[in-house]
Amino acid sequence: AGLADGLTRGIEGFGERVSGALFEPVIRLGVTGLARAGKTVFITSLVANLLDRGRMGGLAAAGEGRILGAYLQPQPDVTLPRFDYETHLAALTGPEPRWPESTRSVSELRLSLRVRPAGMLAGMAGPRNVHLDIVDYPGEWLLDLALLDKDYAAWSREALARAGGRAEGASWCKALAGVDPAAAFDEGQAQRLAAGFTAYLRAAREAGHADCTPGRFLLPGDLEGAPVVTFAPLPEAEGAGRGSLRAEMARRFEAYKRAVVRPFFRAHFARIDRQVVLVDLLDALHRGPLAVEETRRAMADILGTFRPGRNAFLTRLLQGRRVERLLFAATKADHLHHAQHPRLAAIMEAMLREARDRAQYAGADVRGMAIAALRATVEETRRHGGAEVELVRGRVPGGGQAAFHAGELPADPAAILSPARAGAEAWPEGAFGSMRFAPARLGLRAGEGPPHIRLDRAAQFLFGDRL
Ligand code: GDP
Repeated sequence: AGLADGLTRGIEGFGERVSGALFEPVIRLGVTGLARAGKTVFITSLVANLLDRGRMGGLAAAGEGRILGAYLQPQPDVTLPRFDYETHLAALTGPEPRWPESTRSVSELRLSLRVRPAGMLAGMAGPRNVHLDIVDYPGEWLLDLALLDKDYAAWSREALARAGGRAEGASWCKALAGVDPAAAFDEGQAQRLAAGFTAYLRAAREAGHADCTPGRFLLPGDLEGAPVVTFAPLPEAEGAGRGSLRAEMARRFEAYKRAVVRPFFRAHFARIDRQVVLVDLLDALHRGPLAVEETRRAMADILGTFRPGRNAFLTRLLQGRRVERLLFAATKADHLHHAQHPRLAAIMEAMLREARDRAQYAGADVRGMAIAALRATVEETRRHGGAEVELVRGRVPGGGQAAFHAGELPADPAAILSPARAGAEAWPEGAFGSMRFAPARLGLRAGEGPPHIRLDRAAQFLFGDRL
């Protein structure tokens, strides 16, 4: 075991992580995004399309016929929930297809590929196994990294200012006015304050605000009701010493950082090799300039988490390791006719360039794309008042079909991203439409996964080079 361990460590040092004693490469692929961005659908469709690769021509190893087999295997992390692939796929592909349950917590799935090497090695080496460990986690938890740099007083100041500036925060701020932070601690009051604060964060999230930290207030996982998520920001107060409401809130905030945020980064984040961040850009465009602005900020914050040296705790933790490739993917592109896909991708790339500037992120390993993990629509052209309109048509949740035109995305992203737009409530030329289609009934052919848009390209960028 000593020798094997030494070898494992030696090989890890060269950036190739290996599995057990067999020296099989392992790629840890992180999948994240804010709630409802499409993580669950993405993983389910990706796995189904890797098991049956008929639609994966853009993944070079699949296109070249070098993937000889793919199978699900027991994951290495035995204490982590398994991503419930079978249930999610059954929901999507049943006789009455529905969208699966969304991500609430961390989960993992191991897919192993049997791959024939490419190029020069092809004749010499036999096929080898490559393990893809897919780790699904809420993007909300990633944004918690910023909390590590703050103490309770600084966090409270910022959180209260943010709440004060948002319509959804009004009633919470009003409730706070009657609270004396220096009063003796009372559990009932702490719970009421935390509940009010959580309700405000929920409402802010619903309204499209991206930064709604602490992340576990929205997605507590198994911490629901625990003291470590039962706190709220409070203003500074004279005489708020030991035993006061404020002192206990501060203690819980510190516990949240220590017992929730740090362990998450240690156990999951620090081990990721490749990362995809899903962004529901169409939804933000539909909501208007404020939502787009929030999305820009969230993208910069998320990108910042991956920047080496961003945070002393992370630097110590990562010891020079870093995520090698990072994809920001605008999801649900099937809501648009394909004529508009390049425009969606251009907006995504422009936002990403800007996020890189904001986050001072250097490195050539970041890309933006427009994809649909699961295509729920077909395209259609109709004549309307003498002009041709390009539509997408799909099933609607109540039953039946609907055709839909989201509006024209501008050819120049600057039309959307110009600073002049940032403060406005709505787009001058009216909203981009929004539509919720149900998944299509799939008559899946043998050897083919569910239909998608550019999922194979996304896979190629994320891990194609390792196959
Ligand atoms: P999560 O919270 O990030 O896990 O998000 P989900 O994967 O549960 O997706 C949230 C919702 O977005 C789904 O219920 C669908 O309504 C929609 N959605 C996700 N991916 C797609 C897609 O590729 N195409 C379409 N049309 N809708 C999608």
